[in-house]
Amino acid sequence: MLLRHTTDEVLERTSLTINPAKTCQPVGAMYAALGLHNCLPHSHGSQGCCSYHRSALTKHYKEPVMAATSSFTEGASVFGGQANLLQAITTIFTLYNPDVIAVHTTCLSETIGDDLVQIIAKAVAEGKVPEGKHVIHASTPSYQGSHVTGFSNMAKALVTYFADPEAAKSKQITLMPGWVEPSDMRELKNLAARLGVEVTLYPDTSDVLDTPHTGKHEFYPKGGATVEQIKASGGSLAAIGMGPSASQAALEALQSKCGVPGTLLELPIGLQATDRFIDTLRTLAGVEVPQSITDERGRLLDVISDMHQYLHGKRVAIFGDPDQLVSLVEFLNLLDMKPVYIVTGTPTPQFETRIQTALGGNVPEAKIKAGLQADMYLLHQWIKQESVDLLIGNTYGKYIARDEDIPFIRHGFPILDRVGHSYFPSVGYAGAMRLLEKILGAFMDRQDRDAPEERFELTM
Ligand code: SF4
Repeated sequence: MLLRHTTDEVLERTSLTINPAKTCQPVGAMYAALGLHNCLPHSHGSQGCCSYHRSALTKHYKEPVMAATSSFTEGASVFGGQANLLQAITTIFTLYNPDVIAVHTTCLSETIGDDLVQIIAKAVAEGKVPEGKHVIHASTPSYQGSHVTGFSNMAKALVTYFADPEAAKSKQITLMPGWVEPSDMRELKNLAARLGVEVTLYPDTSDVLDTPHTGKHEFYPKGGATVEQIKASGGSLAAIGMGPSASQAALEALQSKCGVPGTLLELPIGLQATDRFIDTLRTLAGVEVPQSITDERGRLLDVISDMHQYLHGKRVAIFGDPDQLVSLVEFLNLLDMKPVYIVTGTPTPQFETRIQTALGGNVPEAKIKAGLQADMYLLHQWIKQESVDLLIGNTYGKYIARDEDIPFIRHGFPILDRVGHSYFPSVGYAGAMRLLEKILGAFMDRQDRDAPEERFELTM
């Protein structure tokens, strides 16, 4: 009973968050920057911030995450971090030779008011940025938003710095995947390839944070979108942004800077959201959906209908990132389950409206909350008032699951105590099949555990 002090009485809170359902902005900015080929993320703040951001990503992806820091000490904290960043830029290009340094700010440098545009311009003017190399930045004060906001800000920075309005017009479609796993980014590219649609996807962390073991250390893995690809995306036929919280800002930036028409979708997690993604790609590119994709969809539908008796009416509590939650809730609703408690720590405009749309009026009792007080403490209190059959969320949910004896499925960020999330997709029909298998497995394991001997079934 590690959370034994949690009570079921919910008191109004306005300035206290307990066990937040989010993490800090620079973690997301660092993750997005890793989706750029030959890029070294740089944290403009203290070493402690950078260590935390790197370790959060390393523990989730089980890969060494490289990043540099401005290493603020007392002097930089008082007088500003310009000198530190200028020195860092020289050192990084000399020692580590990236194509791009992607700087994100931290609480400290934002509070001081460091002007990154001015500092980067000074570095360029003083010849500290070699020919053909780049320093970009995103503002990521962590007292606002969350890791999702940080991802969104860095994704937008990729467009602002690199997308070229003069790029040659092409038939290529730009995909902005939002914060999903490397496996998801790989699956989105696979689906596009099977449809016969040429795409550029960025940020792209596939082959960066899921690299094969070769026995040879590559400081910059082979994956990631290149600067040239992002420049060329300015001439794309169209762009698709997936998930408003993580991708809308970059999508709108590409539209306003380069005139690329953008379509904003929810993340293609679950059957219906994947249908919309496939249909949008099909329509934009003018292609036919191949039989292999139709068959994949059909197999998913078959398992859903075969296993309906295990899913119908099951109450679910779910927490995580807003874009993921909206699509997951829509999928759970399709499965005839009841997502009754839905919480995200990321402040999200229109969150309740999006969730209600995903629920289609089927779960009028659903409690939905986003923002600072939408924390895991509140979620636990709701569960204590009336329990659920399943909890879905990141690793931190295991404490609630253990105390309340609820089946638990890990999904989202961070997952610190299991593997698989970065290798098996959640997006697309294949991803939906995997989610479904995990949900069914959790229910059947529980049924086996609790069954009296005379009801312990061999065949389920
Ligand atoms: S919340 Fe602020 S101070 Fe803490 S690690 Fe993140 S950026 Fe650094």
